[in-house]
Amino acid sequence: MKPKLAARMRQIPPYLFAGLDARRDAAAARGLDIIDLGVGDPDRPTPRFLVQALARAARDPATHGYPPYAGTAGLRQAVADYYRRRFRVRLDPEREVVILIGSKEGIAHLPVALVERGDVVLVPDPGYPVYSIWTRFCGGRVHWLPLRAEHGFFPDLRSVPRDVARRSKLLWLCYPNNPTSALASREQFARAVAFARRHKVVLANDNPYAEIYLGQRRPISLLSVPGARDVGVEFGSLSKTFNMCGWRIGWAAGNADVIAALKRVKNNTDSGAFSALQRVGEEALTSDFKAVQRQRTTYRERRDTVIAGLKRAGFEVRSPKATFYVWCPVPAGQTSEGFATRVLEETGVVVTPGNGFGPAGEGYFRIALTRPRKRLAEAMERIKEAMG
Ligand SMILES: *Cc1c(COP(=O)(O)O)cnc(C)c1O
Repeated sequence: MKPKLAARMRQIPPYLFAGLDARRDAAAARGLDIIDLGVGDPDRPTPRFLVQALARAARDPATHGYPPYAGTAGLRQAVADYYRRRFRVRLDPEREVVILIGSKEGIAHLPVALVERGDVVLVPDPGYPVYSIWTRFCGGRVHWLPLRAEHGFFPDLRSVPRDVARRSKLLWLCYPNNPTSALASREQFARAVAFARRHKVVLANDNPYAEIYLGQRRPISLLSVPGARDVGVEFGSLSKTFNMCGWRIGWAAGNADVIAALKRVKNNTDSGAFSALQRVGEEALTSDFKAVQRQRTTYRERRDTVIAGLKRAGFEVRSPKATFYVWCPVPAGQTSEGFATRVLEETGVVVTPGNGFGPAGEGYFRIALTRPRKRLAEAMERIKEAMG
């Protein structure tokens, strides 16, 4: 029997890279040496002290039962201490922090707590697809906020029509930004806070790249902006900071009412992350962060290799100050998809076409710095040949 799927399944947009994936596999089958710069998943392993911490924690039967719904007291405290040290933000670990099974879980569940049929959610374009998909799952409507280079890849909130703002429940931001790699300034965050207060909209900053900064400027927290906690929450994650994408540990922090609502959705959905993993999270957040410091050095070297290579190939590209992504305009007269296909077929290098992150991503491609420097250098050399 073929199941009669719910109408909401049609809300999931077609997987934009299906064609590209098939062409990559075909190219690999032809014997082309593929260099995949598409994936946003760190190539380096989780630091050993954290793997050892998991082994220790898993041996303790106290970790084997259901974890506390909001997350262990220890990890919530570690998140609060991290926020105090790193961002000078004081959080109440009881009321203002909830532990998530990876931040994606909470990003998906937040609209369940907030969005009803006909409500509007303001979603950055280009952006992480989960923001818009779960808006639609909840019956909400997406109002796209194009991120444009001339505005520093920050949404122009003045352009949101008044009636749209009135019907809005939630405004998503993501800084440091995937895919554009832009950072947000205190002033930009303050403008978003003012907008959210004026229109009584929950403001959520998706912030998994807080520690992946490549310049002198350390990313700030939305929650460090005056008034942010009246309206805002921030999502954090160990995935990118500690190369722990597969472990699934993240958190949300900020406005106590929003956190309470998110906890209620979660209480009725999952039963939290494995307690042993939460102990590892504690060890990670209370560590000296030397591992991520080395990781930043690696990403900086890779970035410099890629930027130099792209410039030699004739691209006009900004060097990213955060995240492990390079967001680069395609050559004049080409589409994102056309360019990515051509690069793949001629060179075996996989880049992500920008339109895969939303229509405003058209005209760009994204390179993830999640491959060794030698491979990145080789990829840039091949692209230069193909361009020449
Ligand atoms: C990687 C990523 C996430 C997901 O992180 P997890 O904590 O692993 O779920 C969320 N948002 C953006 C923009 C990301 O790039």
